[in-house]
Amino acid sequence: MSVTRRTALAATTAVAAGALTSHAFGQGPPAAGQPETPSAGQQAPGFYRYKIGDIEATAINDGFWARPLDQNFVRNAPLPDVQKALQDAFLPTNVVPIPFTTTVLNMGGRIVLIDTGNGDSGAPTSGKWMANFKAAGFDPARVSTVIISHFHGDHINGLRLKSGDTVFPNAEVMVSAREWGFWMDDGRMAQAPDGLKPNFQNARRVFGPIAKEVKQFEGDKELVTGVTAVAAPGHTPGHTAFVVSSGNAKVILMSDTTNHPALFVRNPEWQAIFDMDGNQATETRRKLLDMAAAERAQVAFYHAPFPATGHIRKDGNRYELVPVQWTPAL
Ligand SMILES: [Zn+2]
Repeated sequence: MSVTRRTALAATTAVAAGALTSHAFGQGPPAAGQPETPSAGQQAPGFYRYKIGDIEATAINDGFWARPLDQNFVRNAPLPDVQKALQDAFLPTNVVPIPFTTTVLNMGGRIVLIDTGNGDSGAPTSGKWMANFKAAGFDPARVSTVIISHFHGDHINGLRLKSGDTVFPNAEVMVSAREWGFWMDDGRMAQAPDGLKPNFQNARRVFGPIAKEVKQFEGDKELVTGVTAVAAPGHTPGHTAFVVSSGNAKVILMSDTTNHPALFVRNPEWQAIFDMDGNQATETRRKLLDMAAAERAQVAFYHAPFPATGHIRKDGNRYELVPVQWTPAL
Protein backbone atom coordinates (compact mmCIF):
# COMPACT_ATOMS: atom_id res chain seq x y z
CA MET A 1 0.00 0.00 0.00
CA SER A 2 1.39 3.34 -1.04
CA VAL A 3 1.45 6.09 1.54
CA THR A 4 0.18 9.29 0.02
CA ARG A 5 0.86 12.68 1.56
CA ARG A 6 -2.79 12.88 2.48
CA THR A 7 -2.91 9.59 4.43
CA ALA A 8 0.36 10.49 6.18
CA LEU A 9 -1.10 13.82 7.33
CA ALA A 10 -4.28 12.12 8.49
CA ALA A 11 -2.23 9.62 10.50
CA THR A 12 -0.19 12.44 12.13
CA THR A 13 -3.39 14.27 13.06
CA ALA A 14 -4.84 11.11 14.60
CA VAL A 15 -1.68 10.59 16.70
CA ALA A 16 -1.72 14.23 17.82
CA ALA A 17 -5.37 13.98 18.78
CA GLY A 18 -4.64 10.79 20.72
CA ALA A 19 -1.79 12.48 22.55
CA LEU A 20 -4.04 15.42 23.43
CA THR A 21 -6.71 13.10 24.80
CA SER A 22 -4.47 10.90 26.92
CA HIS A 23 -2.02 13.54 28.21
CA ALA A 24 -3.44 17.06 28.10
CA PHE A 25 -6.79 15.96 29.50
CA GLY A 26 -5.38 13.41 31.89
CA GLN A 27 -7.45 10.55 30.62
CA GLY A 28 -6.28 7.00 30.22
CA PRO A 29 -3.39 5.19 31.87
CA PRO A 30 0.28 6.32 31.64
CA ALA A 31 2.14 5.21 28.52
CA ALA A 32 3.11 1.54 28.49
CA GLY A 33 5.92 0.77 30.94
CA GLN A 34 5.59 4.07 32.85
CA PRO A 35 4.54 3.99 36.53
CA GLU A 36 1.64 6.13 37.67
CA THR A 37 2.59 9.31 39.55
CA PRO A 38 0.64 9.51 42.79
CA SER A 39 -0.82 12.86 43.92
CA ALA A 40 1.45 14.59 46.47
CA GLY A 41 -1.45 15.17 48.86
CA GLN A 42 0.48 17.82 50.78
CA GLN A 43 1.82 21.35 50.37
CA ALA A 44 5.49 22.22 49.71
CA PRO A 45 7.49 23.38 52.77
CA GLY A 46 6.32 26.84 53.90
CA PHE A 47 9.34 29.11 54.00
CA TYR A 48 10.19 32.20 51.95
CA ARG A 49 13.40 34.21 51.95
CA TYR A 50 13.99 37.89 51.30
CA LYS A 51 16.79 40.36 51.96
CA ILE A 52 16.67 43.40 54.22
CA GLY A 53 20.00 45.01 53.28
CA ASP A 54 22.63 42.57 54.56
CA ILE A 55 20.10 40.65 56.67
CA GLU A 56 18.57 37.48 55.23
CA ALA A 57 14.98 37.13 56.44
CA THR A 58 13.03 33.88 56.21
CA ALA A 59 9.27 33.77 56.67
CA ILE A 60 8.34 30.46 58.33
CA ASN A 61 4.73 29.29 58.12
CA ASP A 62 2.99 27.52 61.01
CA GLY A 63 -0.24 26.50 59.28
CA PHE A 64 -3.52 28.16 60.19
CA TRP A 65 -6.56 28.11 62.43
CA ALA A 66 -10.03 27.95 60.87
CA ARG A 67 -11.75 30.20 63.38
CA PRO A 68 -15.55 29.85 63.15
CA LEU A 69 -17.08 33.22 62.24
CA ASP A 70 -19.71 34.57 64.60
CA GLN A 71 -20.98 37.98 65.68
CA ASN A 72 -18.24 38.19 68.35
CA PHE A 73 -15.29 37.93 65.99
CA VAL A 74 -15.43 41.61 65.01
CA ARG A 75 -17.01 43.21 68.00
CA ASN A 76 -17.96 46.52 66.40
CA ALA A 77 -19.16 45.51 62.91
CA PRO A 78 -22.40 43.77 61.85
CA LEU A 79 -21.85 40.11 60.89
CA PRO A 80 -23.13 40.61 57.29
CA ASP A 81 -20.49 43.33 56.74
CA VAL A 82 -17.76 40.96 57.91
CA GLN A 83 -19.12 38.19 55.68
CA LYS A 84 -19.18 40.61 52.75
CA ALA A 85 -15.51 41.53 53.35
CA LEU A 86 -14.56 37.85 53.38
CA GLN A 87 -16.58 37.25 50.22
CA ASP A 88 -14.82 40.21 48.54
CA ALA A 89 -11.51 38.51 49.38
CA PHE A 90 -12.75 35.15 47.98
CA LEU A 91 -12.55 33.56 51.44
CA PRO A 92 -15.13 31.36 53.17
CA THR A 93 -17.85 33.24 55.05
CA ASN A 94 -18.45 30.70 57.84
CA VAL A 95 -14.85 30.48 59.11
CA VAL A 96 -11.88 32.85 59.03
CA PRO A 97 -8.69 31.03 57.96
CA ILE A 98 -6.13 32.75 60.21
CA PRO A 99 -2.58 31.95 59.04
CA PHE A 100 0.53 32.07 61.25
CA THR A 101 3.92 33.22 59.92
CA THR A 102 6.98 34.04 62.03
CA THR A 103 10.12 35.83 60.87
CA VAL A 104 13.65 34.41 61.19
CA LEU A 105 16.58 36.78 60.73
CA ASN A 106 20.08 35.66 59.82
CA MET A 107 22.21 38.61 60.95
CA GLY A 108 25.78 37.83 59.93
CA GLY A 109 25.43 34.20 61.00
CA ARG A 110 23.50 34.95 64.18
CA ILE A 111 19.95 33.54 64.12
CA VAL A 112 17.25 35.76 65.63
CA LEU A 113 13.61 34.67 65.78
CA ILE A 114 10.69 37.06 66.02
CA ASP A 115 7.97 34.92 67.70
CA THR A 116 7.83 31.13 67.69
CA GLY A 117 4.46 29.85 66.43
CA ASN A 118 2.07 27.47 68.19
CA GLY A 119 4.50 24.68 69.08
CA ASP A 120 2.44 21.57 69.87
CA SER A 121 -0.36 23.54 71.57
CA GLY A 122 -2.29 25.00 68.62
CA ALA A 123 -5.09 23.97 66.27
CA PRO A 124 -4.59 20.65 64.41
CA THR A 125 -4.10 22.67 61.19
CA SER A 126 -1.14 24.48 62.81
CA GLY A 127 2.03 22.98 64.28
CA LYS A 128 3.94 23.03 60.98
CA TRP A 129 6.59 25.46 62.19
CA MET A 130 9.45 23.16 63.20
CA ALA A 131 9.21 21.06 60.03
CA ASN A 132 9.30 24.24 57.91
CA PHE A 133 12.12 25.73 60.02
CA LYS A 134 14.23 22.62 59.48
CA ALA A 135 13.30 22.43 55.78
CA ALA A 136 14.70 25.99 55.52
CA GLY A 137 18.03 24.67 56.84
CA PHE A 138 17.84 25.92 60.44
CA ASP A 139 18.67 24.14 63.70
CA PRO A 140 16.79 25.08 66.90
CA ALA A 141 19.99 24.56 68.95
CA ARG A 142 21.69 27.34 66.94
CA VAL A 143 19.11 30.05 67.61
CA SER A 144 20.83 32.77 69.60
CA THR A 145 17.93 35.15 70.30
CA VAL A 146 14.13 34.87 70.45
CA ILE A 147 12.22 38.17 70.53
CA ILE A 148 8.54 37.98 71.51
CA SER A 149 5.90 40.42 70.20
CA HIS A 150 3.29 39.60 72.87
CA PHE A 151 2.14 36.77 75.12
CA HIS A 152 -0.71 35.16 73.14
CA GLY A 153 -0.23 31.40 72.78
CA ASP A 154 0.17 31.41 68.99
CA HIS A 155 3.31 33.54 69.45
CA ILE A 156 4.95 31.99 72.53
CA ASN A 157 3.96 28.31 72.65
CA GLY A 158 6.74 27.40 70.23
CA LEU A 159 9.21 28.19 73.04
CA ARG A 160 8.16 25.22 75.16
CA LEU A 161 6.51 21.90 74.32
CA LYS A 162 3.54 20.55 76.31
CA SER A 163 6.00 18.11 77.89
CA GLY A 164 7.79 21.10 79.42
CA ASP A 165 10.87 20.72 77.20
CA THR A 166 12.49 23.91 75.99
CA VAL A 167 12.79 24.18 72.20
CA PHE A 168 15.68 26.66 71.81
CA PRO A 169 18.13 25.58 74.52
CA ASN A 170 20.82 28.15 73.70
CA ALA A 171 18.69 31.21 73.00
CA GLU A 172 18.30 34.36 75.06
CA VAL A 173 14.63 35.36 75.24
CA MET A 174 13.56 39.02 75.03
CA VAL A 175 10.08 40.29 75.94
CA SER A 176 8.38 43.62 76.46
CA ALA A 177 8.58 44.78 80.10
CA ARG A 178 4.98 46.04 79.84
CA GLU A 179 3.78 42.67 78.57
CA TRP A 180 5.67 40.82 81.29
CA GLY A 181 4.39 43.18 83.97
CA PHE A 182 0.78 42.59 82.90
CA TRP A 183 0.64 38.80 82.39
CA MET A 184 3.00 37.78 85.20
CA ASP A 185 1.15 39.87 87.83
CA ASP A 186 -0.64 37.46 90.20
CA GLY A 187 -3.05 40.18 91.33
CA ARG A 188 -4.16 40.81 87.73
CA MET A 189 -4.57 37.09 87.14
CA ALA A 190 -6.81 36.80 90.23
CA GLN A 191 -8.97 39.72 89.02
CA ALA A 192 -9.12 38.60 85.36
CA PRO A 193 -12.38 37.28 83.89
CA ASP A 194 -12.47 33.47 83.64
CA GLY A 195 -12.07 33.62 79.84
CA LEU A 196 -8.71 35.38 80.19
CA LYS A 197 -7.25 33.27 83.04
CA PRO A 198 -5.86 30.53 80.73
CA ASN A 199 -3.72 33.21 79.01
CA PHE A 200 -2.16 34.14 82.35
CA GLN A 201 -1.57 30.47 83.22
CA ASN A 202 -0.03 29.77 79.81
CA ALA A 203 2.42 32.69 80.20
CA ARG A 204 3.57 31.09 83.48
CA ARG A 205 3.86 27.65 81.85
CA VAL A 206 6.07 29.03 79.04
CA PHE A 207 8.16 31.61 80.91
CA GLY A 208 8.09 30.36 84.51
CA PRO A 209 11.13 28.03 84.23
CA ILE A 210 13.24 30.81 82.61
CA ALA A 211 11.78 33.77 84.49
CA LYS A 212 15.15 34.87 85.87
CA GLU A 213 16.92 34.77 82.49
CA VAL A 214 14.27 36.50 80.37
CA LYS A 215 15.45 39.95 79.23
CA GLN A 216 12.80 42.64 79.43
CA PHE A 217 12.84 45.58 77.02
CA GLU A 218 11.13 48.96 76.88
CA GLY A 219 9.40 50.15 73.68
CA ASP A 220 11.40 51.98 71.03
CA LYS A 221 14.76 50.44 72.00
CA GLU A 222 17.22 48.70 69.68
CA LEU A 223 17.21 45.09 70.92
CA VAL A 224 19.96 43.67 68.76
CA THR A 225 21.79 45.65 66.08
CA GLY A 226 19.22 46.28 63.33
CA VAL A 227 16.08 45.30 65.27
CA THR A 228 14.21 48.11 67.05
CA ALA A 229 11.11 47.60 69.21
CA VAL A 230 8.12 49.82 68.43
CA ALA A 231 5.51 49.96 71.20
CA ALA A 232 2.18 49.03 69.56
CA PRO A 233 -0.26 48.70 72.48
CA GLY A 234 -3.94 47.80 72.26
CA HIS A 235 -3.95 44.23 70.99
CA THR A 236 -2.31 43.47 74.36
CA PRO A 237 -0.85 46.02 76.83
CA GLY A 238 2.76 45.42 75.77
CA HIS A 239 2.16 44.37 72.15
CA THR A 240 5.25 45.28 70.10
CA ALA A 241 6.02 45.79 66.41
CA PHE A 242 9.60 45.84 65.14
CA VAL A 243 11.59 47.78 62.59
CA VAL A 244 14.32 45.64 61.04
CA SER A 245 16.89 47.70 59.16
CA SER A 246 20.22 47.32 57.42
CA GLY A 247 21.78 50.12 55.38
CA ASN A 248 18.94 51.90 53.57
CA ALA A 249 16.66 48.84 53.65
CA LYS A 250 13.99 48.25 56.25
CA VAL A 251 10.93 46.12 56.94
CA ILE A 252 8.27 46.85 59.54
CA LEU A 253 7.18 43.66 61.32
CA MET A 254 3.62 44.55 62.29
CA SER A 255 3.05 41.51 64.58
CA ASP A 256 -0.70 41.53 65.47
CA THR A 257 -1.28 45.20 64.69
CA THR A 258 -3.95 43.68 62.48
CA ASN A 259 -5.41 40.19 62.36
CA HIS A 260 -6.29 38.95 58.83
CA PRO A 261 -5.55 41.86 56.43
CA ALA A 262 -8.62 41.14 54.27
CA LEU A 263 -10.68 42.28 57.28
CA PHE A 264 -8.54 44.59 59.38
CA VAL A 265 -6.16 46.28 56.94
CA ARG A 266 -9.17 46.96 54.71
CA ASN A 267 -11.20 48.13 57.73
CA PRO A 268 -8.75 49.46 60.32
CA GLU A 269 -11.54 50.64 62.65
CA TRP A 270 -12.82 47.07 63.03
CA GLN A 271 -11.86 45.55 66.39
CA ALA A 272 -11.14 41.82 66.54
CA ILE A 273 -12.20 39.87 69.61
CA PHE A 274 -8.47 39.41 70.37
CA ASP A 275 -7.83 43.18 70.74
CA MET A 276 -7.81 43.70 74.51
CA ASP A 277 -8.19 47.49 74.28
CA GLY A 278 -10.09 47.94 71.02
CA ASN A 279 -9.85 51.72 70.77
CA GLN A 280 -6.14 51.79 71.53
CA ALA A 281 -5.58 48.94 69.04
CA THR A 282 -7.38 50.97 66.34
CA GLU A 283 -5.26 54.03 67.05
CA THR A 284 -2.06 51.96 66.87
CA ARG A 285 -3.25 50.26 63.67
CA ARG A 286 -3.93 53.56 61.88
CA LYS A 287 -0.61 55.01 63.02
CA LEU A 288 1.48 52.07 61.80
CA LEU A 289 -0.47 51.59 58.55
CA ASP A 290 -0.14 55.33 57.81
CA MET A 291 3.57 55.17 58.49
CA ALA A 292 4.05 52.14 56.22
CA ALA A 293 1.97 53.69 53.42
CA ALA A 294 3.72 57.08 53.61
CA GLU A 295 7.19 55.53 53.64
CA ARG A 296 6.31 52.88 51.03
CA ALA A 297 8.02 50.53 53.49
CA GLN A 298 7.86 46.77 53.18
CA VAL A 299 5.79 45.21 55.97
CA ALA A 300 5.17 41.73 57.37
CA PHE A 301 2.11 40.63 59.34
CA TYR A 302 1.96 37.56 61.58
CA HIS A 303 -1.58 36.74 60.40
CA ALA A 304 -1.37 37.61 56.68
CA PRO A 305 -1.55 34.97 53.93
CA PHE A 306 1.87 33.41 53.29
CA PRO A 307 4.53 34.68 52.76
CA ALA A 308 2.86 37.40 54.82
CA THR A 309 4.91 40.30 53.49
CA GLY A 310 4.18 43.14 51.08
CA HIS A 311 3.37 46.85 51.05
CA ILE A 312 0.51 49.05 52.24
CA ARG A 313 -1.52 51.10 49.79
CA LYS A 314 -3.78 53.79 51.26
CA ASP A 315 -7.23 54.02 49.71
CA GLY A 316 -9.22 56.86 51.33
CA ASN A 317 -9.89 55.77 54.90
CA ARG A 318 -8.98 52.17 54.14
CA TYR A 319 -5.77 50.37 53.32
CA GLU A 320 -4.77 47.37 51.29
CA LEU A 321 -1.92 44.89 51.69
CA VAL A 322 -0.27 44.33 48.31
CA PRO A 323 1.70 41.07 48.61
CA VAL A 324 5.28 40.88 47.35
CA GLN A 325 5.94 39.21 44.05
CA TRP A 326 7.67 35.86 44.57
CA THR A 327 11.19 35.97 43.27
CA PRO A 328 13.88 33.29 42.97
CA ALA A 329 16.63 35.93 43.36
CA LEU A 330 17.85 37.19 46.71
ZN1 LIG B 1 -1.56 36.29 67.01
